[in-house]
Amino acid sequence: IKTPQQDFDTAAIRQLDSAHFLHPFTDHGSLAEKGARVMVRGEGIYLWDSEGHKILDGMSGLWCVNVGYGRTSISQAVYRQMETLPFYNSFFNTTNVPAVTLAAQLAQLAPAPFKHVFFTSSGSEANDTNVRLVRRYWDLLGHPERHTIIGRVNGYHGSTMAGASLGGMAGMHAQGGLPIPGIVHIGQPNYAEAPKGMTEAEFGIVAAGWLEQKILELGPDKVAAFIGEPVQGAGGVIIPPPTYWPEIQRICDKYDVLLIADEVITGFGRLGTWFGSELMQIQPDLITFAKGVTSGYVPLGGVLVGSRVAHVLIEKGGEFNHGFTYSGHPVACAAALENLRIIQDEQLVNAVAVDTGPYLKQKFASLSDHPLVGHADSLGFVAGLNLVRKKAEHLHDCVPFDQALHVGMICRGYMFANGIIMRAVGDRMIVAPPLVMTQAQVDEMVDRIRQSLDDTL
Ligand code: PLP
Repeated sequence: IKTPQQDFDTAAIRQLDSAHFLHPFTDHGSLAEKGARVMVRGEGIYLWDSEGHKILDGMSGLWCVNVGYGRTSISQAVYRQMETLPFYNSFFNTTNVPAVTLAAQLAQLAPAPFKHVFFTSSGSEANDTNVRLVRRYWDLLGHPERHTIIGRVNGYHGSTMAGASLGGMAGMHAQGGLPIPGIVHIGQPNYAEAPKGMTEAEFGIVAAGWLEQKILELGPDKVAAFIGEPVQGAGGVIIPPPTYWPEIQRICDKYDVLLIADEVITGFGRLGTWFGSELMQIQPDLITFAKGVTSGYVPLGGVLVGSRVAHVLIEKGGEFNHGFTYSGHPVACAAALENLRIIQDEQLVNAVAVDTGPYLKQKFASLSDHPLVGHADSLGFVAGLNLVRKKAEHLHDCVPFDQALHVGMICRGYMFANGIIMRAVGDRMIVAPPLVMTQAQVDEMVDRIRQSLDDTL
């Protein structure tokens, strides 16, 4: 594989970037100092930048390039659709073939009883849709007071006003008047924060119990829904204790609270099941999806609407005054259909479940012996480790860094020098590689991570 031909000057692109491009989640002061890295090409699990560096992409772009880079069959499907019908809206009693076909296929892949899909262009828009859907549902049932939605501290549900409000990121809430009214939060099921001596199983029940406490504090007749990611991703790959989600389901059922699983990261095979809800043994009423549905080749997101909500919306609702120009965009849906075909034909979900996922677990856990690592763990194809100043046998006895993110950033710098992309979040370093990664490539990734940790020492 050759480095691509370049018809631009990297320094000039950096200058234009700095002058004109406001990047998401970026401190432009420090970006201007160093200049942005210019990515030019991808193939399989590797990326190339404009200076010729070959980099192993441990983050699948941003948790999305599940089938890897360079899939010409997706670009061909997109091209064909663009030639035939590049766009038409799905308002005003019209539809299009790729959107219908995809909706039917998603309904088949999703755990029962999902039959309906509402399309958006992103995970954030899909979660905004959820806010409107659950409130509309309770309005239609004659309970307009039932509007409060409960999310979790350190959860991430997007960057729109409603998405960022559902999320529990302190840094986001500190800017722009968030959260919007009617959204509250409970603590996250992070075993690293459990009281010393408590088992993981016990902590799972305790953390789920915070939901019951919050419902009782608000009054069950005020609570519309609970939203959570099966595994918190952007919060640092927080893998919940196995007891957590079944107990959340029990509490939602007990108080008749709708359950929303945000599967923007965990959907489409990342945990070794088509949806994380299957692995966590829950039956949500609504599932948010995006990212892996097209492997990020074209923006697409949406909400899988379970029969409980769909029935009320369709039978009693009349017009639902909500939608986007690009809901059911034919090109995005064509990309998704080809992407799903690849995932199915190459049996990538099964590979993560029984082959490469367990292998990653074993190899990643071996990093726990490193002096900078408190604990390293993974589930399917998401993995995270805690950086600690002084390690101890038990995670709860490790001494944390005063400025863990600063250390993480230094480590991330060495990662790039060693040809691997890993993300730093608080005291955690995380990966979510493309599902096509082989065992040999897992070895390569873990070797590069270990080298970067050594360099950070
Ligand atoms: N929900 C989850 C769980 C996510 O991880 C993300 C993005 O990372 C979103 C929602 C927002 O998706 P988007 O960036 O496509 O708006």
